[in-house]
Amino acid sequence: MRVHHIVPPYLLEHLERTADDPNLRARYRLSLQHDAVFRARSSATPSQDAAPFQDEGAGQGPRRVVHDAENGTSLPGTVVRAEGDPATTDLTVNQAYDGTGATWAMFQECFGRDSIDGAGLLLSSTVHFDRGYANAFWNGAQMVFGDGDGEIFGDFTRSIDVTGHELTHGVTQYTANLVYEGQSGALNESISDVFGSLAKQHHRGQSAADADWLIGADIFRPGVSGAALRSLKAPGTAYDDPRLGRDPQPAHMSGYVETTADHGGVHINSGIPNHAFYLVAMALGGNAYGDAGRIWYDTLTSGELSETATFIDFAQATLAAAETLFGADSPQVSAVSTAWTEVGVLQSDSSEPSQPSGSAESVELMRAAKTALSTATPPRPPASMPPTPDQPAEPAEPDPATADPDTPANPSHPETSASGSE
Ligand SMILES: [Zn+2]
Repeated sequence: MRVHHIVPPYLLEHLERTADDPNLRARYRLSLQHDAVFRARSSATPSQDAAPFQDEGAGQGPRRVVHDAENGTSLPGTVVRAEGDPATTDLTVNQAYDGTGATWAMFQECFGRDSIDGAGLLLSSTVHFDRGYANAFWNGAQMVFGDGDGEIFGDFTRSIDVTGHELTHGVTQYTANLVYEGQSGALNESISDVFGSLAKQHHRGQSAADADWLIGADIFRPGVSGAALRSLKAPGTAYDDPRLGRDPQPAHMSGYVETTADHGGVHINSGIPNHAFYLVAMALGGNAYGDAGRIWYDTLTSGELSETATFIDFAQATLAAAETLFGADSPQVSAVSTAWTEVGVLQSDSSEPSQPSGSAESVELMRAAKTALSTATPPRPPASMPPTPDQPAEPAEPDPATADPDTPANPSHPETSASGSE
């Protein structure tokens, strides 16, 4: 089982390089070393650190348990709050409890999914992991939250979308199981950002138009020049800070980053499918956890998506899901088609394929998409996929009001997390 961290390694490496304070540098180095150890251990053996309880009693609401590592590193630690227990005096414990509950509620109430495995899996969290640990992760069986280094990152339980992001890695693990490398890895990351954001939007009852579309808006410490770790609304604008560097996410295939770092840029190129989801949600209006979320959820859980799906495979699968749900001539199908065209993953018939970044493989993929769109045949059709004779051949014109990737998501980021009421 793979360990999924919310803060990508390149960001912690940048912090370690640029920190003046040797104590801080040591904290970042330790955080990176922890992460590397977890990665090595998780690729060698299935996780044995967690899942302390077997499951029973599904269908009765969420089942949560929060542990305290008491600044140590053994997992899961001491149980400090179980399902139904009253709030404790430790805000971090309560935030972990509430964030996992909000994520459970979003999946249950919007999509009828009972927990990560769809069968009431216990939602287990550990807080106060180590000292100054600047990350949070899902290890295949539970959530783990650091308290942050205190300079750049604070308490990682503060953002519901961070908790939702990590728990969604569990949902993906139980469903499409997208391979965490290259484009399928970036899709894995993107799905976690999408449903992480939806957990927060659902918790707040926010419409797509009112949502901030940020991941981790509440985990930066005061003084950081940035709104959040990532922005689905405007990838590439989430932060720009001398200590952190600049948000490297592209919003369009023209900015696709070919790299061997970060499992092939999984935290970088996820900006492209992230922005496609944002565009769909904005085009449809209302709540993003309504039709837009349903299309993405059905795509993730259909059983028809390849574990090594490319962006084009995924785009085609969302089109197929939208057609099944709403009909071929529906505004939902039109919105999905337009969004993937706007981010350069699919091409409208009337235009030449854009060059994603010059790689032969990418060009080949673009050609495949164009062919797929014009022949109404998905590039890799699963045997069980229903016939879809009405692939939209002429996506609508991009909407300039929602298409501008340069629009800052949150230009007036409050230095203290004013938006964080959880
Ligand atoms: Zn992730």
